[in-house]
Amino acid sequence: MSLGRKYIVILGTIMSGLGKGILAASIARLLKTHGYKVAPLKFDGYLNVDCGTMNPFRHGEVFVLDDGGEVDMDFGTYERFLNTSLTKLSSITGGKIFQLLIEKERKGEYLGRDVQMVPHLTGEIVDRVKFLGEETKADIVLIEVGGTVGDIENGYFIEAMRQMSRKEDVLFIQLTYVPSLSPGEQKTKPTQHSNRLIQSLGIKPEIILCREQELLSKEAREKIALFCDVPVENVLDDPIVDTVYALPQLLEKQNLYDAIAKRFHLRKTKVNLGIWNRMVKRITNPSKKKIQVGIIGKYTAVKDAYVSVKEAILHATAANNVCADVCFVESTEIEKKGAKILQNLDAIIVPGGFGKRGIEGKIAAINYARKNKIPFLGLCLGMQMMVIEYARNVCGMEGANSEEIDKSTPYPVIALLPEQMRIEEKGGTMRLGSYPCILDPSSKSFTLYKKKLIHERHRHRYEVNPKFVEQLEQGGLVLPGRSPKKGIVEMSEWKDGFGIGTQAHPELKSRLEDPSPLFVGLIKAAIENKKKRRKKKKA
Ligand code: GLN
Repeated sequence: MSLGRKYIVILGTIMSGLGKGILAASIARLLKTHGYKVAPLKFDGYLNVDCGTMNPFRHGEVFVLDDGGEVDMDFGTYERFLNTSLTKLSSITGGKIFQLLIEKERKGEYLGRDVQMVPHLTGEIVDRVKFLGEETKADIVLIEVGGTVGDIENGYFIEAMRQMSRKEDVLFIQLTYVPSLSPGEQKTKPTQHSNRLIQSLGIKPEIILCREQELLSKEAREKIALFCDVPVENVLDDPIVDTVYALPQLLEKQNLYDAIAKRFHLRKTKVNLGIWNRMVKRITNPSKKKIQVGIIGKYTAVKDAYVSVKEAILHATAANNVCADVCFVESTEIEKKGAKILQNLDAIIVPGGFGKRGIEGKIAAINYARKNKIPFLGLCLGMQMMVIEYARNVCGMEGANSEEIDKSTPYPVIALLPEQMRIEEKGGTMRLGSYPCILDPSSKSFTLYKKKLIHERHRHRYEVNPKFVEQLEQGGLVLPGRSPKKGIVEMSEWKDGFGIGTQAHPELKSRLEDPSPLFVGLIKAAIENKKKRRKKKKA
């Protein structure tokens, strides 16, 4: 693009929870579909350096990137929508930027000067935004400012963007909420006030996207245009959708691209949302075939704690043209009521996790799946529990456990990774990011991945203890995947039925256009299993 790099900044107003991340990802997708290279970036005001030390109960899942960055779950949305893998450069938290500034100050890089929010902190932010653009060679850097305008936490990020807009081509988009007091009675005043608040910061939004219960009336749209001083065609709906994947298409229909193109003098292009649209259709008009998938976890009270697992199931069901009812089962419930509560499930997933609580319920669920031939997928902790279940109940290693759960177990089949032994800090110290794994060509995993060398993302401290590998294999557990350098066990399989465990988190790389092979296999096995069970019942 000869016009030079462009920047889009998305600001949320009035309240949180309006789906700013999904909107930003949809706009990024739309621009990508029109042929532009987009680099997403998110500012988060909290003072944690990254998300790794946050509690899934409060913050939802921690998303891990190829380079080991532990980031906000919105990055999962970006990657899924853009179908590309991002790097740590796309995430700037308050903690990270302050850390950088203080490190520079200690090195004497500001010698003789007072180090101040403006211009030093804001300047550092602008530099990082521009650096991302250069590194990725993006045509457009799309910036989501976390939080809501008016918060103390994100004020310096917004000021940095104002400063940047003096020198660069920056388009500000306001996301707002238009409540209806009763059907047909839309209220635009909160939007007017919040727009004024943004303008008081020296920023003028040029496109306004409105979340609402009902589509904007002509009157409300015109009022917003008039009071917020934007053309009426730049006031758009951000409607409630059946699936978030439908949003890029809905924005396209409202000519959002045209509004952006006009502002940036971009070329007029025709889009082809092709396979994206076909997959979205499968999600919005699901086939009548339905299966029940259970996620056995301990953060099940928080819907965002397992977002990527849920999305990976959705991608795999769309690929198999079925519809899944996903239910969350709190593993402590299994401890109380027994694994029989899982009897209606067609597939069982035990996802990742940390700590003791609910562990025995997970092991019981895996045992139930193995004995009743319910297709099973174990993710990270889920794989570790699959190994423990097998060690205890098939290999006769009574009391087998993970050192994370029971330090004095007679059979520590899951043990601390050697490189984790001396680490005392918590942030960013696990085995993090993408690692290769070599698959045995005779394994089920190989059949699913259709290749020998795979790369998946990791986030763990413990591994299958090499001391017990032979004993486990002799007992019949298949361990068909190893890391090439250190020989770490990466995969486990049952010989009978569909049961696969992976030390990685394949859900993090699953995309609508490129679903995770293990999830596709699980869902396929679940459909076949359901058919078999039906036949048995009839007979
Ligand atoms: N707690 C386990 C470990 O640290 C598993 C981690 C996970 O499931 N992400 O190895």
